Amino acid sequence: MNKVGYREVALAAWLVNIGRFWDDGAESLVGGCRRVLEKYLDVEKLLGILGRKPEYEEERRLVDAAFDLSLCESEVKEKLAKGRNLTSVFSRVTVKDQSEKKKMYYSIRKESPEAVFPEEKGSDEQRKELSKEFMEELKSLKDYAPGTWEDFIVIFDGLLRRYAWCITASDYEGEDISLYNQSRIAGAIADCMARSQDPEGKYFKLVVGDFSGIQNYVFSVANVNKKGVAKRLRARSFYVDVAVSAIAQDIIYQFGLTQNHILMLTGGKFYLLLPNTADSDQLLETIEKEIEESFLSLFKGQIAIHLAWITMGADGLEYYSQSVTEIMRVLGEKKAMAFHHSLTDGDGWIEDKFSLYKELAGKHVCESCQRELTDRNQEYCPNCAVQTEIGGRLPRLRYISYYRGKKEGAYHIYGNYWIGLWSEFKKDEAFLTEQINGTNLPEQTKGAPLKIRYMANHIPTDRADGDVMTFDDMAEESRGTKRLAVLKADVDTLGYIFADGLRTGKRHFGTISRVNTMSRFLEIFFSGYVNQLISQREEYRNVYSVFSGGDDLFLIGPWDVIPHLAVEISRAFRNFTAQNPALTISAAVSVFQTREHIANMAKLSEESLKKVKNKTIKELYPEKTGRDGVSFLGQLFGWEDLREQLETGEKLARLLEDKKVSVGILRRIGTYSRMYREFLVNHDVMSLMFEPLFHYDRQRNYEELGKKMNPELQWFLDDYVPDLSENAADLRVVKKNLFFAEAAIAYALNITKEERV
Ligand SMILES: [Zn+2]
Repeated sequence: MNKVGYREVALAAWLVNIGRFWDDGAESLVGGCRRVLEKYLDVEKLLGILGRKPEYEEERRLVDAAFDLSLCESEVKEKLAKGRNLTSVFSRVTVKDQSEKKKMYYSIRKESPEAVFPEEKGSDEQRKELSKEFMEELKSLKDYAPGTWEDFIVIFDGLLRRYAWCITASDYEGEDISLYNQSRIAGAIADCMARSQDPEGKYFKLVVGDFSGIQNYVFSVANVNKKGVAKRLRARSFYVDVAVSAIAQDIIYQFGLTQNHILMLTGGKFYLLLPNTADSDQLLETIEKEIEESFLSLFKGQIAIHLAWITMGADGLEYYSQSVTEIMRVLGEKKAMAFHHSLTDGDGWIEDKFSLYKELAGKHVCESCQRELTDRNQEYCPNCAVQTEIGGRLPRLRYISYYRGKKEGAYHIYGNYWIGLWSEFKKDEAFLTEQINGTNLPEQTKGAPLKIRYMANHIPTDRADGDVMTFDDMAEESRGTKRLAVLKADVDTLGYIFADGLRTGKRHFGTISRVNTMSRFLEIFFSGYVNQLISQREEYRNVYSVFSGGDDLFLIGPWDVIPHLAVEISRAFRNFTAQNPALTISAAVSVFQTREHIANMAKLSEESLKKVKNKTIKELYPEKTGRDGVSFLGQLFGWEDLREQLETGEKLARLLEDKKVSVGILRRIGTYSRMYREFLVNHDVMSLMFEPLFHYDRQRNYEELGKKMNPELQWFLDDYVPDLSENAADLRVVKKNLFFAEAAIAYALNITKEERV
């Protein structure tokens, strides 16, 4: 049924709602950039479809159906939205019968990590100007003609994203769906419908790719104090990203599709929307086998990338949350049968595949990964050697170029795919180049298939020689005690939020475009905003990003800086999610000696984070059952409490530095704090002894202090200490400052350690 031209149908579906941004509508837009478009498709036909010409009735039917499915609005048409500003999708999320949430809106401006924070009343002042700019950029492509239709789509997708991300796709229920997400998905849907001939209307394949065992793989890189480990750690995490990207690219290439069929690509995972055709299952099976074999030989089974797919019709798009749940179930089954294709044939296990090391003589185990064999005169195995090299290039990385076929100076990733890691843009045969961060594309990139990719890629470098700092160097940057801290954080109950949080009564709003809008926003926060925070702010320059993307992060840095960073990220997340109390993050800040093995740091941080998720101190937080908090120095804090205690800790540290208060006085307060917690949590009445002890201490030791008064000391004597010591035995009033004093004091003592010795 090739009577339907895929390109015209797909682009018509992309454009059919563009009038929300370009006032004069789709036909005017197509007319305006006819000279660009005529290189790739039949412009008259595209205009005919958009203008509902009778001869294109069939095509138009597909476009209309794709538009409806991309929005999935119910019949109830009640004008809800405020202007064209996108309403935050996080304003819709509801957990249980929670009521305190409000609609917030995005200001109309170009996409950037700082633009994704909604406001009470988003500004739309720039809309006209931006839509003009969008059109000019589109028209200007005629002078830089992108080489292929696929190249054009990369650029068009990027333009729409930059300009239309903050425009709402609808005045009704879809007010929280981004026009950008809705329109590219409509394009993908129309394209799938045009290609699929499924008689039952199951036109789609939803495909997920998942890099399994990421943590195991990333963290199995020898002790952190060894030289080169800081390079390989980020390099491995980076490899996860690019391997997954290359596979997603390979699949859409083999299906003959464009970038907009990649729904999501983040955190070692991708989702694709493909047409269900007669040979799609077979093609996916072949690709699956290629992936298995390729990674088995490259990594000896240490890592695996699994594919899973389901076939679905219109329902699958409307109830997309359920489709995701279903595909994750299938993925789970696939994981249970890892390397099934490669290690077995019709007769059972293929024995050859198990004798991977045929020549053991003259080999030793690689010092870095301790898994691979390497020649006696080589320190590292080939994988680790390449990773060290890649890691050294990452601090200067600006562009990742993807190539089919070998490319000089590039790295082989998988199958026929190579990636170039460049610090400057190269106009060459790359079929896709990703600009890492930054929102402006340089002039010389015009016409090239280039997109912006947010990536947390900050690696601290030596100020003098620009080389990657070791973890020992990072610890040395701490104030006081030289330690590292790991910050591990993720969004609470996100699975539940995607599956059920987008429901209002019986009505389910987890449609494909809405879920996609939400995932993409989260990705901008974790990859874009977090990266911007640590790479642009001087106080965080020594923080190392192992990974941050999707819905979680893992950062390492000087121990005294990391808790401040955690607080800042949690505050930003609250604003980012429209201050909706249903959306929270939990974190663990764990302090380590630099000689600790990185894998152990990861494991212990993971355990601490689990505690934050599942435990609460009901005396302090009676309304909580866990989550929405952070652990640090052995205590579990609500976010605001950690912020306050860090502030207290900094003040106490200044008092110590200025020799206004002695270590002994603070240590004793730490003891009273510990006794108070015993009393409060375990109701140990003996612990109440701290009251007379504290009283005696104040009588005997505090009078001397007043002689060297300054504002900080005044705060200590007049506010802090009285608050700690008065009425502490009253169980009805929980004294947070006293509860956390031991932690605040430990923080103060440790950041001033050098000054005291
Ligand atoms: Zn190795």
